[in-house]
Amino acid sequence: MTPTYTVSRINATTHLIIHNDKFLEFPYIYVKVYDNLKVAVIIDTGCGAKSTKGTRGQTNLKTFIDDNVLSTSRGTKNWTFLVICTHCHFDHIGGIESFAKDGATIVASGYDKYFISPENLPQNSFCKAFGVDTPKYKVTHFADDNEHLFQNDNDLDLIALHTPGHTPDSLAIYDVKERWLFAGDTFYQRAATMPWAEEQDVPILFPPQGNWHNWCASLEKLLRLSKSEDAGNEKMLRVACGHATSDALATAMLDRAIDFGKRVAAGKVREVMRLPGKDVAPGGSLGDEMFVYWHDEGDVEFSMMAPERFLKDFETGTV
Ligand SMILES: [Zn+2]
Repeated sequence: MTPTYTVSRINATTHLIIHNDKFLEFPYIYVKVYDNLKVAVIIDTGCGAKSTKGTRGQTNLKTFIDDNVLSTSRGTKNWTFLVICTHCHFDHIGGIESFAKDGATIVASGYDKYFISPENLPQNSFCKAFGVDTPKYKVTHFADDNEHLFQNDNDLDLIALHTPGHTPDSLAIYDVKERWLFAGDTFYQRAATMPWAEEQDVPILFPPQGNWHNWCASLEKLLRLSKSEDAGNEKMLRVACGHATSDALATAMLDRAIDFGKRVAAGKVREVMRLPGKDVAPGGSLGDEMFVYWHDEGDVEFSMMAPERFLKDFETGTV
């Protein structure tokens, strides 16, 4: 018997929740608690109750957070929720409906509103392709690039950053006070062991809607931010991702991810195989295209998977 969710703390205000889902995505959910404001910021919401694999404990994310994060901070239930979507993939929006129903503010990137419009969401979220119901919610706030997020009139000291590449709507969040960057699925490390002892091995993944050149530009943008924040500061910026990585030094890891991208584009990372979109992720299909899987031998930090046509994009400039 394994848990449906696990919870741990990554810094003074923020908890990491991992969803033990049947697609083996094991998405990372972050909950930042503003005790004085009675506001909880939820960064992503996992795969949703119906897609849970773990059999122990609560399956509804909101109830889990109420019981395991907020009740320990304060024994009352009058919390206001602000949910941030790092992007619209099914393993990141699955638990959003209960928050939306409860009147939560729902924030998503304003970079490409059409990509996440109700008519495009079932396809672009891959909910349809993985046979899960597309959650019903309305984005109540489309964040601009470099926008400070507010709840009512309170500055949350969170800055939204457009980081298109994995998807057009990819959104990173910089927590100014904690000096923590939430990067979504733009990049993450390859290997992780879940708290319930299950091993995960995940490539940095480009779905058909991914864009190589935007991804490269977004990594450089995050690196510029991280470097300027690190300058003259003893407390280095840390980074937390949508899978596998919740606490790493941001500048160093971004440097390594950019270098890895350059090596993939230059043909210097071993191509393990090519596989059709239906075999890329368990339980669903990423479409009809062929994908390439790059993974050097040994216990390397990153691997990558992208549509075959990216090979052409690699020729026209690298990171
Ligand atoms: Zn994703």
